[in-house]
Amino acid sequence: MKNGENKQFPVLKEGYTLQRSTTKGRVYSLLESVRYFYEVNESAARILEKCDGKTELKEITNKICSHYNEEYKPTLKIIKSYLNENIDILVDIFPQPIERNIHITGNWGINAPTQAAIELTYNCNFFCKHCYIEGGSGREEYADSKKLIPVLDELAD
Ligand code: SF4
Repeated sequence: MKNGENKQFPVLKEGYTLQRSTTKGRVYSLLESVRYFYEVNESAARILEKCDGKTELKEITNKICSHYNEEYKPTLKIIKSYLNENIDILVDIFPQPIERNIHITGNWGINAPTQAAIELTYNCNFFCKHCYIEGGSGREEYADSKKLIPVLDELAD
């Protein structure tokens, strides 16, 4: 970095989570005030993964260059452009390191689900022809909470 050029420490926005998977990433916020879900490609996700507020842009660029076997200057240009497009959307950028708890989940080797649906009962007021659980008002089966809670715990992990 040239003399006089300011350092930049990008960081994922407060309260946001980055989920990694095999070919892409998902950034989401479950904050009541934000409610945000955004899919990004793998290279963008690998950049965001390094935006922890402590890693300077130059170091992020070196890591990305090393991963993709790319040259420094064009890679820096792409990363800067990507981060600048996403300021206030996905990232904040500071001139000095900052402390922020970054939440990163998932794994580059596993395409884990982001959503799960649990049928709590077959009891239903309707009789839709397409119903895949064959629900209806005559069905009184309800999920057993003792069995359900361990399943929810496992999903959360
Ligand atoms: S699809 Fe099944 S569960 Fe859903 S409303 Fe229709 S009958 Fe009820």
